This record gives sequence, structure tokens and C-alpha cells, in this order.
Amino acid sequence: MNMEHYIQRFASLNANKNRKTWTAVTTHRAPHKPLLLLAVLDLFAQGSLSTNLIEPTGELVELFGFYWHKVRPPSQRGNITYPFYYLQSEGFWHLLPHPGQEVALTVYRPNAGLAALSAIILGARLDDDLYALLCASDSRDVLRRVLIETYFAPEIRASLLEQGEINAAAYEYSQELLAKAHTILKEVAEDSSTIPTPIRDQGFRRAIVRAYDHRCAICGVRILTADGHTAVAAAHIIPWSISHNDDPRNGLALCHLCHWTFDEGLVTFTDQYQVKTSPQLASTPNLPGHLLTFAGRPLLGPADEALRPFPDSIRWHRKEVFHGR
Ligand SMILES: [Zn+2]
Repeated sequence: MNMEHYIQRFASLNANKNRKTWTAVTTHRAPHKPLLLLAVLDLFAQGSLSTNLIEPTGELVELFGFYWHKVRPPSQRGNITYPFYYLQSEGFWHLLPHPGQEVALTVYRPNAGLAALSAIILGARLDDDLYALLCASDSRDVLRRVLIETYFAPEIRASLLEQGEINAAAYEYSQELLAKAHTILKEVAEDSSTIPTPIRDQGFRRAIVRAYDHRCAICGVRILTADGHTAVAAAHIIPWSISHNDDPRNGLALCHLCHWTFDEGLVTFTDQYQVKTSPQLASTPNLPGHLLTFAGRPLLGPADEALRPFPDSIRWHRKEVFHGR
């Protein structure tokens, strides 16, 4: 099987056609399969697929989501489960059940969600020939163009190509941030302001969410929805606008409520990395609920202790943001 064969396959994916549901931007077709394949190409580009197994990870979900938001309105979320499951009908994408889950896979339906699919499959294996082609950047580029030019309107193509470039650069940036945090021990406020914002934002976020494994550093919430969406965001301790510092040790993974309470100065940390709550939380007319119970609890830090917050960043937050009374 040669390149021509897969160009042909990629150009003739079976996708739902419906002029009412799907706009001209996606050539009046469901964009799920081509968008998932674009996200998979990004995993190859960042060198994450050293074996022929594509796992339904949060990272893949996030990459798929970036593309999805380029072509669909913000109110509509794309569900990666459908293309991950239905691509098997294209002949080059093979779902691999966990041992003993073969029967479960035959009765699985994608409306059960990604978590249920992950419970019965290891992932998807590509045709060996296709896997070999995708390991090479020139054939990846050809197939990326085939997807973009076949399934998307001319006015959106440049932005989809650019998203692939942003994703690659953001991955590289996140790796750099994590590596630097291990080699440069003392705090160096390295100015990241020359890096384009979309790359910085995504790179910082990927580094933090990975370091904290999707767990909120204050309340411990760790929720990944059935579709792979995470409850946590990456927060700067000293805001980027002041510090220009994306070092993971100037960051925390926080859920939305904890992020807000932290930015409002209603919680902070002691030098011993314990949660400290503000008296303002308990003042009338507040009903702070579970937030007060976090006082004195340890910061739920990254598994890798080298990535724990800088003491100076924590002190800055306590002095400049926290309401001590
Ligand atoms: Zn939280």
C-alpha cells in the first residue's frame, strides 16, 4: 500500500452530510473524522506515538477541541468519542480491545462516552503502512493538506493549518518549561513575552495540567468528563501580566471555584504549603460552605516535587493578593 492509497482513503471519509446541521465551513459534512485525524497528526508531529497505538487521552481530546472550535460555534462542543469509534469503518483504524473485552466492544455504542470506551479498549492501531507514513513529516504534511482541503472551506484552511503549528509549538514550549524547572533550580523570571500568546497559553496549561494530573491543588477535585474535559485550569501564582514568568513553579492547577477564590485573595498558602483561608470568607453575608474546611490542609502538589511552587511566588501572593483580614 502506498501513499496514493491513503490520500484516497483520507479524501473519501464517510461523514454525515446534512446542509441543515453542517455549514459551508465544513462543506456541509460532519467534521469529526477529519478533525480527529488532524489531532492524531499533531501527536505524531510532537513525537508522542513511538508505538502504533493511539490512546483516547485527555491530550488528544484537547487537540481535537482546538480544531473543533475553529469550525463550529462556541456553544457547540464536539464529542471525540464518535470519530474515535466510527473511524474503524474506514478500514485503516483498528480498535484494540483490552484482553477479555472483545464482546463488550461488539455491544459498545459511542453515546456511552469516551470513559466507557477507554474501559474496553487500549486504543486504536493504524495500518502498519499508514503508521510508517505518518512517522515521516513530509507524508504527514501531504495528508494534513488533503484533510484540510477536502473537508473545509477555503476561508478556514489557513487557520486550521496554523492551529497545527500552534499545537506543535505549544507542546515544545510545555516540554521546555518542564525541563527548565528541573535544570534551573533557583528562581529565574525568564521573560516569555516574545512568545505568541496562543502558544504560551496552551504550553503553560499543558505543562501544569500534566504536572498536577488534572487535580486541583486546593480542593483536590479531579473530574474528567465522559468526553475527556477536565475541571482544572492552569493558574499563574504571580499573574503573567506582572511576572511574565511561565515557569511551572509559578503555577498551580486549580478548579474554577478555587481559581476564583485564589485570584480574589480569599485563600493562599503558608510557607509550609498549607492552605490559609481569609477571614473575609466567613464574614456576613457569606456562606463559604466547604471552602473553610480547606484551612490547614496541605497543597495537593505535583507528583514531581521539583515542580512545587516557588516559595517567593507564594509569599508574593500572600502579601499582594491575600486578604489577611
Ligand atoms: Zn478546587
